[in-house]
Amino acid sequence: MVKARKYVVKNYFKGAPKRDDYELVEYELPALQDNEILVKVEWISVDPYQRAYNSSYKVPYDQFGFQVGTVQESRDSNFPIGTKVVTHKGWSDYTIVKDVAAIGGLREIYKLPDMKGLSPSLGVGAVGMPGVTAYFGFLEICKPKTGETVVVTGAAGAVGSIVGQIARIKGCKVIGFAGSDDKVQWLEKELGFNKAINYKTVDVSKALREAAPNGVDCYFDNVGGEISSIVINQMNKFGRVAVCGSISSYNEDAAKLPKATILQPAMVFNQLKIQGFLIWEWFSRWPEAFSQLVEWIKSGELKSREHVTDGFENVFDAFSGMLAGENTGKAVVKV
Ligand code: NDP
Repeated sequence: MVKARKYVVKNYFKGAPKRDDYELVEYELPALQDNEILVKVEWISVDPYQRAYNSSYKVPYDQFGFQVGTVQESRDSNFPIGTKVVTHKGWSDYTIVKDVAAIGGLREIYKLPDMKGLSPSLGVGAVGMPGVTAYFGFLEICKPKTGETVVVTGAAGAVGSIVGQIARIKGCKVIGFAGSDDKVQWLEKELGFNKAINYKTVDVSKALREAAPNGVDCYFDNVGGEISSIVINQMNKFGRVAVCGSISSYNEDAAKLPKATILQPAMVFNQLKIQGFLIWEWFSRWPEAFSQLVEWIKSGELKSREHVTDGFENVFDAFSGMLAGENTGKAVVKV
């Protein structure tokens, strides 16, 4: 018998999630049934959608999310003992998984892509869901052209830092917004952003006009709210916007969502295309992005920084820290 631990969400969050909203449950896993696999979890991902989807689930529920681990016992010949896997079984240290399709075509489990010697932890980051979000969201929706000006918000995070680097690789001028001077330094000095701006300490509209005097062609929106209205109001004719997320509102009460400056005049007069997306839409194409991302990381063209928290007992702190902006790069937990 294997003793496992998992985090169960007990409450609907009010504002920022609190430790008391979770219960850490210890329990014995049952014996494996046909086609089931026992996974020992090594890396756990903490992500903004774990906050955003809270009201869509019926509490109590097991905290969902991506994890990387190794198959310890198997009754599925496709996943023999020792296979490295990525599952969507959330905040648990041991878990039983069955290879069935879940929401939106996403499978509960897939084999860790060939990382060519890179850390398996990247399987929940740059070579995982956040990496493919940056890859498809930016390339398929923004359709960037060499020489264009690209803006990304949440620029020093898991998705944003990859978007900005892909834009640079594609020959674009890249401007990133992030929430601290250290993040700004990292984006400009290490990742090769043309300009990074601390949105907390400047007049965003003025700073953007100075950084992009000829206007913005593509905007990858991770945060929503007023900053997005400012960017969209400085876009050029036929600009493209990929709406990836709106983390600036995730902790807000659904009945009192913040208001932002009207967008329709900019959309109409500049004939903008604004498209929201969910990364599950491209699930069948994830392997294509994984190969390219691994190649870019191996060649040094793309940097994949991680903000690592140690210990299963600290998963909640990692989550709440990420929501508060403590992470530079992908926030992950080493179990
Ligand atoms: P990050 O690694 O970027 O971590 C979250 C970051 O959000 C923090 O570090 C913080 O950075 C920033 N942040 C927190 N509060 C605010 C605020 N009020 N205003 C502006 N920024 C804030 O997370 P991810 O890269 O994983 O996710 C980025 C976005 O992408 C999220 O909106 C997420 O929901 C979305 N997403 C969407 C997917 C899709 O399929 N559409 C898939 C994956 C992610 P800072 O210090 O800069 O404020």
